[in-house]
Amino acid sequence: MLQRTRCGYFTDLSSPCNKRSPGSGCAAIEGIHHNHAVLGHSAHCVATHPSDLAVALAAFDAVVRYETLDGTGEIPLAQFYLPVGDRPDRETALPPGALITAVALPGSARSLRSRYRKVRERASYAFATVSVAAALDVRDGVVRDVRIALGGVASHPWRARSARPCRCRTWPTAGW
Ligand code: SF4
Repeated sequence: MLQRTRCGYFTDLSSPCNKRSPGSGCAAIEGIHHNHAVLGHSAHCVATHPSDLAVALAAFDAVVRYETLDGTGEIPLAQFYLPVGDRPDRETALPPGALITAVALPGSARSLRSRYRKVRERASYAFATVSVAAALDVRDGVVRDVRIALGGVASHPWRARSARPCRCRTWPTAGW
């Protein structure tokens, strides 16, 4: 969940990077931005979040529980990752020194039918070019609720609050 970005400039100490060094600039905007964000980015950072797990947790509306020296707390995943804005170095709403102690899923998650699909540039281990976690609440053959989260396209797991039906013939409909 706290994986850092895969942006190559982030680990290249010779390049400006607002996420690594606030105020220094963003080398990716004018440089190599293959696989960078297409949603939720800003003029200060276009990096993507690399996690698969966090995308699935976003679809399930997970809650992150943490502990600090001052006590315990929790943050819904929808508020856990901060918007990029002008401070891409600030990635989560965790208080300083916090330790994540649990991730809770709402009870309703147990009744959902869910899938995770990931497109990547090679068959072996690789980050998502784009991924989708989808969970459906189907009762008596009727879809009551749909939850969709996208990965590989934004600075954090992107919860899609609305979606249009897709008539694409390659969409895997079996097994829902
Ligand atoms: S996209 Fe973000 S992580 Fe990459 S160079 Fe720009 S500021 Fe740094």
